[in-house]
Amino acid sequence: TSEFNGKHITVAGLGVSGVSAARALAGLGARVTVVDGGDSVALRERAAGIGDDIAVRLGDAETLPEGTDLVVTSPGWRPDSPLFAAAAAAGVEVVGDVEIAWRIRGEGAPPWLAVTGTNGKTTTVQMLASILEAAGLRTAAVGNIGTPIVDVVLSQEPYDVLAVELSSYQLHWAPSVRAHSAAVLNLAPDHLDWHGSMAAYAADKGRVYEGNQVACVYNTADVRTEQLVRDADVEEGCRAIGFTLGAPGLSELGVVDGILVDRAFVADRQRNAQELAEVSDIHPPAPHNIANALAAAALARAFGVEPKAVRDGLRAFRPDAHRIAHVADVDGVAYVDDSKATNTHAAEASLASYESIVWIAGGLAKGATFDELVTRSAKRLRGAVLIGADRALIKEALTRHAPDVPVVDLDRTDTGAMAEAVREAARLAGEGDTVLMAPACASMDMFTNYGERGEAFAAAVRELASGRTTKE
Ligand code: ADP
Repeated sequence: TSEFNGKHITVAGLGVSGVSAARALAGLGARVTVVDGGDSVALRERAAGIGDDIAVRLGDAETLPEGTDLVVTSPGWRPDSPLFAAAAAAGVEVVGDVEIAWRIRGEGAPPWLAVTGTNGKTTTVQMLASILEAAGLRTAAVGNIGTPIVDVVLSQEPYDVLAVELSSYQLHWAPSVRAHSAAVLNLAPDHLDWHGSMAAYAADKGRVYEGNQVACVYNTADVRTEQLVRDADVEEGCRAIGFTLGAPGLSELGVVDGILVDRAFVADRQRNAQELAEVSDIHPPAPHNIANALAAAALARAFGVEPKAVRDGLRAFRPDAHRIAHVADVDGVAYVDDSKATNTHAAEASLASYESIVWIAGGLAKGATFDELVTRSAKRLRGAVLIGADRALIKEALTRHAPDVPVVDLDRTDTGAMAEAVREAARLAGEGDTVLMAPACASMDMFTNYGERGEAFAAAVRELASGRTTKE
């Protein structure tokens, strides 16, 4: 029987991960209560469908149910939520679904290759899974996306290894996870409203290295990631492995003459470096994406994967929707959907991928500032169209650092604003330009999520195209 058998467990939040954790824990013999501050019809329906073995308390997210032994959080809940304060006051441990997944792994469970970072997690985990599959390994990409990790761990599937995406929230609540190897892709201010400070955010990300067995993979261009490796307490023999877009030093993977090379895991000691793949094998071959590929390759190599499988896996990989996705060309202007650029760091990578850009931006800033992004991208901007709740912050940065760039401030936060933004962008763009929707902000002021925002953009582009000369 598991350590959860007979325990009184309170699950915070009746969302997808909350329901999956509640079901799993009830199945392991725990006495589960799910609490949620809301009390809508939808929530009541969900509560009714959850099963007789699970109690649900709606309309109170603050008080700790009597007799609680353990609290399980959901990603949306802030660490300073009253429920967690109540748990702390009562001496009750608070953990997340990733921690639960880790604790319920059975004998001979597959090792985890973990990926975190401000941007590129999903892409890198999917590249990694693609490489592991090409190597003939049974694997799944799990974590922040797709199937909840608890469900994957409980499934009877015989995996050899898991490619696990971990957000800073999940790491915050997962104190005992120990990866085989892990990568921190990059570290830039994001979600600071949740974590409270950059230091707290970095410390949560750095947790991913704790107890690593084989390799801690870091970004040589981001000293903060290297510092996290130095600060981590790892297993004896665990190596620090860097990745770089330039020529690699010892114990690094990098790029030489358009070829991804590995100088960290060189099988034949006579050889100086091992060729892995060509830059052109990567989709799209933008600089940030080559970095993602190198990180994925480093983790796979740490797991013993051969170079050929790295190449085959990278070739087979295709990015998910709304990540620098080319929608259409209209009148010689390319329209690109990078709705997933929900922070300034992602938007900067995206803007660096094109030369002459009409930028559609704005949404919820989440406490970010835009001066650096605008300063670094100014010379590529041919125009900007601003939408969403916090657009004034971007407008001010443009006025300060790019005064010559024409700006259209739409002063709209309704869903229909995207169509107008696309029309305005089309007016500003000339032949050879790229209209890039990389908002540098979260979408929830106008849309349900970034996916819906991307669909709205694509629909508006198609509408624009229907009247003009197009090339899909
Ligand atoms: P995450 O899962 O961390 O949110 P994704 O792989 O979904 O990351 O990519 C999110 C966005 O971040 C992309 O649309 C792109 O704009 C940007 N991006 C991807 N990889 C990187 C990277 N290595 N550095 C900076 N930005 C990146």
